[in-house]
Amino acid sequence: MPQSTANRNLPMAQIRNIGIIAHIDAGKTTTTERILYYTGKTYKLGDIDEGTTQMDWMEQEKERGITIVSAATTTFWTPTMDLCMPKIPHRVNIIDTPGHVDFTAEVERSLRVLDGGVTVLDAEEGVQSQSETVWRQADKYNVPRICFVNKMDKLGADFLRTVTDIRDRLGANPAIMALPIGAEQDFKGIVLLLERQALVWAGDETGAKYSAAEIPENIKSQVEEYRHKLIEQIAETDDVLLNQYLDGKEPSLPDLHRALRAAVIAYKLVPIYCGSSLRNKGVQPLLDAVVNYLPSPLDVPPATGVNPQTGQADSRSPDPNGPFAALAFKIQTDPHVGRLTYVRIYSGTLKSGSYVTNVVRREKERVGRVLLMHANDREPVDQAIAGEIVALVGVAKTKTGDTLTDESHPIIFEGIDFTDPVISLAIEPKTKADQEKMSIALQRLAEEDPTFRIKSNPETGQTIISGMGELHLEILVDRLKREFKVGATTGKPQVAYKETISKSAEGEGKYIRQTGGRGQYGHCLVRVEPKGRGEGYEFVNAVKGGAIPREFIPAIEKGVREAIENGVVAGFPMVDFKLSVYDGTYHDVDSSEMAFKIAGSMAFQDAAKKASPGLLEPIMKVEVTAPDEFMGDVIGDLSSKRAQILGSTTRGKMVLISSLVPLAEMSGYVTTLRSMTKGRASYYMEPSHYQEVPQNIAAKIIESSGKSPA
Ligand code: GDP
Repeated sequence: MPQSTANRNLPMAQIRNIGIIAHIDAGKTTTTERILYYTGKTYKLGDIDEGTTQMDWMEQEKERGITIVSAATTTFWTPTMDLCMPKIPHRVNIIDTPGHVDFTAEVERSLRVLDGGVTVLDAEEGVQSQSETVWRQADKYNVPRICFVNKMDKLGADFLRTVTDIRDRLGANPAIMALPIGAEQDFKGIVLLLERQALVWAGDETGAKYSAAEIPENIKSQVEEYRHKLIEQIAETDDVLLNQYLDGKEPSLPDLHRALRAAVIAYKLVPIYCGSSLRNKGVQPLLDAVVNYLPSPLDVPPATGVNPQTGQADSRSPDPNGPFAALAFKIQTDPHVGRLTYVRIYSGTLKSGSYVTNVVRREKERVGRVLLMHANDREPVDQAIAGEIVALVGVAKTKTGDTLTDESHPIIFEGIDFTDPVISLAIEPKTKADQEKMSIALQRLAEEDPTFRIKSNPETGQTIISGMGELHLEILVDRLKREFKVGATTGKPQVAYKETISKSAEGEGKYIRQTGGRGQYGHCLVRVEPKGRGEGYEFVNAVKGGAIPREFIPAIEKGVREAIENGVVAGFPMVDFKLSVYDGTYHDVDSSEMAFKIAGSMAFQDAAKKASPGLLEPIMKVEVTAPDEFMGDVIGDLSSKRAQILGSTTRGKMVLISSLVPLAEMSGYVTTLRSMTKGRASYYMEPSHYQEVPQNIAAKIIESSGKSPA
């Protein structure tokens, strides 16, 4: 087991927090696994008898699937070439970024806490839609990147075409660092251009040795040509080197590497490497590049936030001696230690056993243990410092996006925005025993994943779960069955509509029961007013002169909150409005929280029904790539689906059509598109926003919900 206590306390300059980002199927998982293999191996060199142990943990790894589920994995890498960074161990924390579009919100979450990214591309497919989306998200957070053109062994692999794609579709300034030796089944290795160093792998298997080799005769002139271009690109980013270069002098290798490092961190250049993760070629030079060119926590700007006491902007620099501040970016249930809260520490030092303040929830939390998560092991550590990513045990009330600080130096880092779920389905336990297990398991899953929601329909008693796409829900239901052993059946996926109001109105709720003994008395008057799209729900207490005693207001709020979950039109949650309680009456003896809760719910329903309520539907961004002869058909079909066509761009013989389409119209689109284009088109879809449902369509949805129109 790689007990890394000796190497753990590395200076901050030797830390890299990176994410591996890719379109689904580009090879993110394979690349991550190989990285874990090679980093584990390097780390253990001379430590233990490799061979068997190594294989043991690979097997275990596969069974437990930890490489895939750990939100952050700590590895160590020592650069193989002493060019830019010295040949000393560096800690590389790999933050998991989910590969499927259903999880774009999760990608945003991870982009918040990483300092650099490795984008994995498929050498045959080039830049795919999702890579483009994630690329733009990474631009938003100014994340410096390296590209790895993977699958060089695949039929149709084309390195240079993929680089052109990176320039054209991603708008990046790609710096080709290595050229492939051979392609498709003849792919053998790479030539590092600056060093003029060919590296050839002896076999395909994991752990295959690689060695320095002569540059093959047939690519020598290509190597010189691209090397020349690369040096020019680097020189252009640095005045001193540019002068040397213009004087006809080639800058020294260490100078070129230093300038390149600065240019990557400033996001002026994106180094491009290539290889085949599946065939174990090119991974080690990629790791060298991560250490050499991606930033350490010291190289990135201070983390910004707001001081909750003054409302002023504030920031934290990565200083271990500064005030403690960290962002919780992921909650995960671990089969061995229970609830894990993953945090990135932006400032100060966190000791295990100490207390921290959750500034967002105004709660004190005790940090039972601080863990470093390795691929095959969890390592308790006494303390962790700024720049580190660790998992905390014992922190119970903190949610994804919360800020933890020391008590006397509060700051709130910007929370993490999650888009609302767009699809839902009914789920039913098979037996009575499953019932209880299911509700606990669903709670757990929802804690881990803020884009997963649960609610119950009070009328049918059914449990409804919702998420970001069919695949997202499928995976969660699968986990429910396999991890939590819950027997359950599910209904068909349904579009997650919402409700809102379009004008202001007032309503009354009166819950008065006179039974033999003590009665029930709750009475309130409320006003609802529309808010802007996406602004959510706001509750305001506007009661004057004690018409309703203060202690009953939270009960009213609770009643309203529960009632808005199942709106007034067709049972969908109501959003984007403000509700104010402005008056009411009470009874000295009979009034109770219970009675006011019911009155609150009744008043909301009364007001909402009078406020012209309507339905909102999720609108998806849909991008279709099709051969240009099908452009007319594709656009015609989209238009029949209430689509708004945003535009089209031509790429060779293919055309990329961008549009906004209601999710409700997209069921069965895979099949439609396939038959319309003889299987030659593909599409990509992600949630965009919510929008009013046209009247005639709304009427049908309301009818099928079994509710009579409000
Ligand atoms: P992810 O969806 O991005 O995590 O992709 P995976 O790592 O699961 O890979 C998707 C598929 O591509 C799998 O069948 C892999 O075996 C395959 N794959 C991954 N890397 C390579 C590669 O370098 N060459 C080839 N030919 N296939 C690869």
